[in-house]
Amino acid sequence: MKCSVCESREAVVSQPHTGRVLCDRCFVSDIKERVRKTIEKYNMVSESDRVMLAVSGGKDSFVLLDVLSELLPAEKTFALSIIEGIPGYNRLDDIERLKKHARERGVDLIITSIKEFTGMSLAEIVKAAREKGLDVSACTFCGGLRRRIMNTYARMLGATKTATAHNLDDEVQTAILNVLRGDPSRLLRQHPRAPRLSEKFVQRIKPLRYVYEWEITMYSYLKGFRFQETECMFIVESPTLRARVRRWLYMLERESPGTMLRVLKAVDELAEHLIKAHERLPQLPQCSICGEPTSYRRRYCKVCELLMAVGLKPAYKLQ
Ligand code: SF4
Ligand code: ZN
Ligand code: ZN
Repeated sequence: MKCSVCESREAVVSQPHTGRVLCDRCFVSDIKERVRKTIEKYNMVSESDRVMLAVSGGKDSFVLLDVLSELLPAEKTFALSIIEGIPGYNRLDDIERLKKHARERGVDLIITSIKEFTGMSLAEIVKAAREKGLDVSACTFCGGLRRRIMNTYARMLGATKTATAHNLDDEVQTAILNVLRGDPSRLLRQHPRAPRLSEKFVQRIKPLRYVYEWEITMYSYLKGFRFQETECMFIVESPTLRARVRRWLYMLERESPGTMLRVLKAVDELAEHLIKAHERLPQLPQCSICGEPTSYRRRYCKVCELLMAVGLKPAYKLQ
């Protein structure tokens, strides 16, 4: 069958949400064009911005690096990768492949680790937490610390935006979870125009948020990327509700292609109204230990609380 776009090359991908079949070239251009339009629509990157790409060795990061290195000038970007310190997961050959991928695209890559930041690797932190009988999952430590390290490095290195590789599937799942947990106000934090609640938060952008995960996998496959495929040993601790929501969304998507895209667009529209209503929210207070932003009415931030709970001194005030 011929490609629905160029009508000359053989189609290799069927795109159920558009009803088209595409050749490899048109498929790759379609993804790039959609990312370009997302960046433009929400004015994600302006002339004066310097963007830090938060990357891991996974397929989403490889695609983010590939697409953004073409859409943005090299001097406006650099990448940061955080090694969690999880046995069997952070493999040297995966890190080498990520370095090569970034180098070939002319993007400077900085590699740091949770250990460098806190004095302990994630596995050591989790072990210490278990020994103290704390009921905190590895993913809670991992997510909180990675966000903090990302933000700190972005500020330290003069980035004005941080780009993450979240895809459409991640974003829709998170939106549904926020509703299921009875916290719809969190929907606005996901929105590309979310208000900045602290000067200390470097604004996050998610250029891949309207690209399906299967499209990212296909893009990587068509471009021959060799990315990290090993699973983290703590994956079993990742929230099971998210896994159920994912299964449910995939079922709906199979029955009615385009469902996830429609859900995210509807959520975005709703969030726009919420953002207008929250425009005058005060800035977040600062943690009295590290000085980073924390939630309203809290004295310490979540990261300091977690680190103190495992007996680590939160002495990482870098800036
Ligand atoms: Fe971190 Fe959890 Fe993901 Fe493992 S599964 S990398 S601990 S967030
Ligand atoms: Zn084509
Ligand atoms: Zn703190």
